[in-house]
Amino acid sequence: MALRALARVNLAAIERNVGWLRSSLSGQAELCAVVKADGYGHGAAPAARAALAGGATWLAVATADEAAELRAAGLSEPTLVMGAVSSEELGTAIAAGAELVAWDRRFTERLAAAAAERDSSVRVHVKLDTGMGRLGTRDRAEAFEIAELIARSRGALELAGAMTHFATADDDPEFLDRQLSAFEPFASELRSRFPGIVVHAANSAATLRSPASHFDLVRCGIAIYGCDPMHEEPSERGLEPALALSSYVAAVKLAQSGESIGYGRRFVAERDTWIGTLPIGYGDGVRRALTNNCDVLLRGQRYPLVGTVSMDNITVDLGPEPGAQPGDEAILIGTDGGERQTAEQLARRIGTINYEIVCGISSRVPRAYHHDGEPIG
Ligand SMILES: *Cc1c(COP(=O)(O)O)cnc(C)c1O
Repeated sequence: MALRALARVNLAAIERNVGWLRSSLSGQAELCAVVKADGYGHGAAPAARAALAGGATWLAVATADEAAELRAAGLSEPTLVMGAVSSEELGTAIAAGAELVAWDRRFTERLAAAAAERDSSVRVHVKLDTGMGRLGTRDRAEAFEIAELIARSRGALELAGAMTHFATADDDPEFLDRQLSAFEPFASELRSRFPGIVVHAANSAATLRSPASHFDLVRCGIAIYGCDPMHEEPSERGLEPALALSSYVAAVKLAQSGESIGYGRRFVAERDTWIGTLPIGYGDGVRRALTNNCDVLLRGQRYPLVGTVSMDNITVDLGPEPGAQPGDEAILIGTDGGERQTAEQLARRIGTINYEIVCGISSRVPRAYHHDGEPIG
């Protein structure tokens, strides 16, 4: 059966990626599976379950709603909301029992009041900005003050952790080391005042690159999905892509030499050639920048995508002999016979990163879950 667009997700691959990452951790470090943005397009709850089966012990998301979604799916593991949470969103986060990040006094006070009002106790991670320049305080004294505020909140708040986030773990190990050097003394001083806190810093790239960054917990996103945080070939780092994106050939027709295909006539046949139309487009997350600029796998071979990527369709040059037939499956991301196209390859074509390719697969594309080929519910 062919679907116009389908994302097949192999949960066994996520499980293995997590198992492999965990086996590489230093000391007693645990793994937090980052499942924000609907599990990087893979589906948040199924990805979270697979990661937990692989040995993850924490979950992390970016927003309060994402934490609530995990709870609604029956997941009760410690869940960190890493992003900024507005006053409007606090109720959702607290009701979900999420752990939150604080980096300024006013937020911490507001959070304490909101928690007390709801007779809740919220676990809080203090964030130091060591060079990312987004969230977190750059002022160590302020970070300690926040920790004291939490300690004095009469149970409304509990100091759970100390964290930072790396800006260049994927491409500049020197700056990574500078951030690490700024974080280490802060974390150990905070730990000596508040033993029992969870210290964490590493994303996927730092986890793979710098054992010194593992501390008590690593926060891995992209790598658990089998994508390479360094944007290269995932298998070279022991990672196995979990997602395949497919469509099928809905129509095949002859374009005679000189005839054009698609919006803006951005492909003109230089010889008589067969054109296959696949009912998948930028409305599904196939980026328009891939116009005349990627391949599609059909019957185990690569064919060039030709003409403009439109919202609902793309077109493929099948050559002078139609090598494919209507109904044939077509792979945009994944393996077909001896051919393989990765999210990393697509990203490189259009000057972006694998993260954006997998996150960009839209909600119009159904996800089908399997375990090494065995369908799951
Ligand atoms: C998204 C995110 C991560 C995970 O990053 P990956 O590169 O996908 O591993 C870790 N920490 C924070 C704060 C994040 O926002």
